[in-house]
Amino acid sequence: MSTPFTAPTWPGGAPFGATLSFDFDAEEVWIGENPENASRPGVLSQGAYGPRVGIPLILDLLERTGVKATFYVPGKDALRHPEAVRAIIEAGHEVAHHGHSHTNPTLLSREEEAAELHQGLHILRSLGAEVTGYRSPSWDFSAHTLDLLTEAGLAYSSNLLNDIRPYRHESHPLVEVPVSWILDDAPHFWFANDTWDKTIRSPREVWDVWQPEIDGIAALGGHVMTTFHPMISGRPSRLAFIERVITHLQAAGAWIGTSAEVAALAAHGELTGSLPAAAAPGFLPAEVLDAVRQASSAAAAPTAGTLAVPAGQAEASGAATPGGEPGAEGEPAPSNTGTPGAAAREGEQAPSGTEGVSEGAWSLDPIQRLLGRA
Ligand SMILES: [Zn+2]
Repeated sequence: MSTPFTAPTWPGGAPFGATLSFDFDAEEVWIGENPENASRPGVLSQGAYGPRVGIPLILDLLERTGVKATFYVPGKDALRHPEAVRAIIEAGHEVAHHGHSHTNPTLLSREEEAAELHQGLHILRSLGAEVTGYRSPSWDFSAHTLDLLTEAGLAYSSNLLNDIRPYRHESHPLVEVPVSWILDDAPHFWFANDTWDKTIRSPREVWDVWQPEIDGIAALGGHVMTTFHPMISGRPSRLAFIERVITHLQAAGAWIGTSAEVAALAAHGELTGSLPAAAAPGFLPAEVLDAVRQASSAAAAPTAGTLAVPAGQAEASGAATPGGEPGAEGEPAPSNTGTPGAAAREGEQAPSGTEGVSEGAWSLDPIQRLLGRA
C-alpha cells in the first residue's frame, strides 16, 4: 500500500516547518479594489494603521520571539511608507513582491501585469530589499503570471492553495509555497464596514480554528504558512494572538523560516525529498483549449461564420478562479466600480509623497528621488 502523504525533511530534524507572513496592504488594498477609495481618508485610515502602529509593534514582537518573517509589500505602499519597509529590512526580515498597486492580475493585460511586476520590483529593490518571491494581491494567477515571474528571475510564488508542502512547479523553474484561507487572519477578523455583514470574532474563537489546523499540519510534517495583515493583526488583542501562534509553533519544535528560505530549500531538493513536482491546477492543456475553441467556433459557424469565443477568452475561463471566494486574499471585496486595473491608476489621487510618479511613462529616477527624500 502506498504512503498517503510524504513529508518533507526539515532542517535540523524538525518535525515540521512554519512561516509567518504579513501582507503589507495598507492604503493600497482599498484603492486597488475600489479606486474611489483614494478620496476617502476614513477608509484609507484603516489601512494606514498597519505601517503607522501595527508594523512597529509586530517588529518588536518578532524580535522578542526571535522569528524572521516575510512581508509582502505593494510597490505603491512602499512609496508611501518607505520608513516602514526599511525598518522591516533592517530587522532582517524578508521583503517580497505584492503587486505595485493592489490589483488582481487576472484583471490586467499581459503588458499591464508585466509593468506592475517591474515597478514593484524597482521600488522594493531601491529600498534595499532582496526580492525573490511574489504573492499576488488576490492569491490568483493570470495565464501569464508564471511566465512573467520566471522572466523577472524570481525564485518562488506564494499563491496557490493546493498543498501543505512547498513544491516545484512542473512548467516553470519556480517553487510554490502554498497558502490557505484557514491560516489567514482576514477571513476570521475582517470587519466589512460597508455592509456590516461580518461579525468580528474573538482571538479565542479563531484560535479554536487555527490550533487544530496547525497541529494537523505538524503531525503530517508539512508547512504551516500563516498569513497576517498588519492593519488587522497589528491591533493589540491580535498581537497577543500572533504571539500565541509563535509560542505554540516553537513549543512544538517547528523549523521557522521565511518564505524565501523555504523556497531555497525546496529548490535545492533539500526540503521536498521525494515530493513530486506538481503542476498549477486549473490550466487546461493547450490541446484541450484548442478543442474548446474549435467546438465554440463550430457552434457559431452555421449562422455567423466567425469565432464565437475570441482567442484568450476560453483560456481565461480555464484558469482557476474559485467561485464565491472573496476578491483578494482574505481581504475586502468592496463594491467595485469600473475596471480596477486601469481606473486605479487614472482615478487615484496621488498621496502626499508620491507626486511626480508617472504611471504612464515609467522611470526609476523619480522613485529614487522620492526614496532619497523620504
Ligand atoms: Zn494583499
